[in-house]
Formats: sequence, structure tokens, C-alpha cells
Amino acid sequence: MRRILVIILALSLLFTISCGGGGEKTKKVKTRFISIGTGGVTGVYYPVGGVIAKMLNDKSDEYGLKATVEATGGSVFNINSVMAGDLDFGIAQSDRQYQAINGLSEWEGKPQPTLRSVFSLHSEAVTLIASDPSGIVNAADMRGKRIAIGNPGSGHRGNALDALRAYNLTLDDILPEDIKPAECAGMLQDGRIDAYFYTVGHPNGSIKEAVAGKTIVHFVPLNDVKVLLKEFPYYARTTINVDQYTGVSNTENVKTFGVKATLVTNESVDEDIVYTLTKEVLDNFDEFIAQHAAFTGLTRVQMLDGLSAPLHPGAARYFKESGLLDEKEALDKLIVEEE
Ligand code: GLU
Repeated sequence: MRRILVIILALSLLFTISCGGGGEKTKKVKTRFISIGTGGVTGVYYPVGGVIAKMLNDKSDEYGLKATVEATGGSVFNINSVMAGDLDFGIAQSDRQYQAINGLSEWEGKPQPTLRSVFSLHSEAVTLIASDPSGIVNAADMRGKRIAIGNPGSGHRGNALDALRAYNLTLDDILPEDIKPAECAGMLQDGRIDAYFYTVGHPNGSIKEAVAGKTIVHFVPLNDVKVLLKEFPYYARTTINVDQYTGVSNTENVKTFGVKATLVTNESVDEDIVYTLTKEVLDNFDEFIAQHAAFTGLTRVQMLDGLSAPLHPGAARYFKESGLLDEKEALDKLIVEEE
């Protein structure tokens, strides 16, 4: 009798495990980890990557995704890491996306055919900020000055070189420094550099730090760029609104040129993951853009601007089913017809 009881007990325990709590566990989706490469901590990529990760992580039970954000050297580093499979997603300047897919600049002769775009984000201005004591009023005044042109791996290094060229300067005409943007504000304040380049959304932590110290600083216009704009399809004119920075000595908004920040991935990244990320951000667009002032004025359809790598199938699925792709095509057609 005791033996029978033990058997019944054992059997019922087995039944509970396979159908009860244990059963729910097998139903639960396995958590998948995804990484997003951003930029320096005082830029815009880093907090923006954080916003995307948080939106996904807040629904990790539903999506089965856990996103992490990595501070990195910037666009070029992110594209290379996404291509190598070290990162699932990366934020990269639209000019860098174009160069990578077409085998130009850092990727000269080595196009990256599996690079895929997800969506674009805020606009970035090629920003040159100088200390007032440096005496750099016009970009041409950079001659002989100590200028941080950006770390290797950054997106803005290429823009700095283009800007120098637009003003008939080469690296031999200045004292170039490779410093990361997170260190530039402090070095500008200490007088260890005269100016630094940063292609970045505004407002951002780096410039806020640069304007907050004892040394008075100012933005230098980069408006002599007609030739540059003709030569490169990814550049457009833009303006830095100086009201965003108390303490800067400019009294008028500053003319420069710029690009878009974009989110990129690899063709090999799972379609459902890319779809989920795209849908989460775009379906909750108002909540998303409220998280950073650099998103001011951004519209959903603009999230398709500046993408030169093919859309990842996961992103394409969302943009098609939401009607945004049709809206964008209709808009582009209108613009072409108007020209
Ligand atoms: N545009 C910069 C780069 O690609 C990064 C800007 C940022 O971190 O917001 O390196």
C-alpha cells in the first residue's frame, strides 16, 4: 500500500512539473541579447541608444529581448563592429553609411554589401567650437592652431578633413589632435586645444560642458561649403541655434553643414528583432522624441531620410505595413517634381 502511495505521489509530482509552473516556463520566450553601439558619453548617440534600449527592456517580458548600450569611438567604429558581428546595431552618420556601402573613404575599395539601415534619427551639425582667446573667428584662422579633429573611429574626423579642405587647409597647416570628444571640452577650457570639431546633434553634453567653464568659447561658422555640397550628396546646410547654450559668446545662430544620424545593422541580424525594435520606436514616436531635445521637430516620415544602405527586411516590413514607406515615396516624388 505504501509503495502504491509513493508511486502515486511521484506520478502526481511529475504531472505538476510538466503541466503546472514548469509548463509556463517552457512557454516563455528565450531572452535574446542585443547590443547597440553609440558614441562618447557626452554626445547624443549615447543617450539616444539608451532611450531605444530602455523602451525595449521595459517590455522585455513581451519581446524576449534585453538590449545593452555601449559607449564607443563613434560612427566608423560602429559600422565596422556591426560588420564584424561584434555589435547588433550601431548609430552612424549618414555620410559614413553612404561611404561604407559604396566603398569610399575608410572603406575605399572595400564596400560593405551586408550593411543595412534601420531608420534615421536626429540631424547632426558639423560643429567647430573655439575658445575666444584662440583668436579663431573664421575657419581660415585655424592655420597654425591646435585643433582636435576627432579620434580614429569617429564619424566627425572625415567631416573635419572636408571642412579644412573647404577652407584650403590641410593637416600640415594646423596642429591636429586625435582626442575623443568626451575629453575635448575640458581641454578647450584649459587652453590645451584652441578648438574642436564634433559632428553632433544639439543640444549635447559636450558643448554644454565647453560653454560652462571660465574660458569663453564660441562656434565658428562653416558656411563656405558650396563646393563640398556639390561634391557630396550627403551634406546639407544647417544652422546651430545658439540659444541652446547659455554662456556661448555668439549672438547669432551659426551657419554650417551637416548630416543625419542613422541606425544601422547587419543583414544577418534576425528580421523579427529588427522589426520589433523599429515598431517599438515608431509606434511610440511621441514618447521617443520627448526623451532628447535633439529630436525637436523630427517627424516619423523623416526617419527614412539619409538612408543609403538597403533597409533591413525587418525595418522594411514595419515601414511598409505602417504606410510610412508610401508616404516617403510620395513626398520624394513631390520634391523631384517641384525641382
Ligand atoms: N557623430 C559622431 C560620430 O559619429 C558622434 C556624435 C554623438 O555621439 O552624438 O562619431
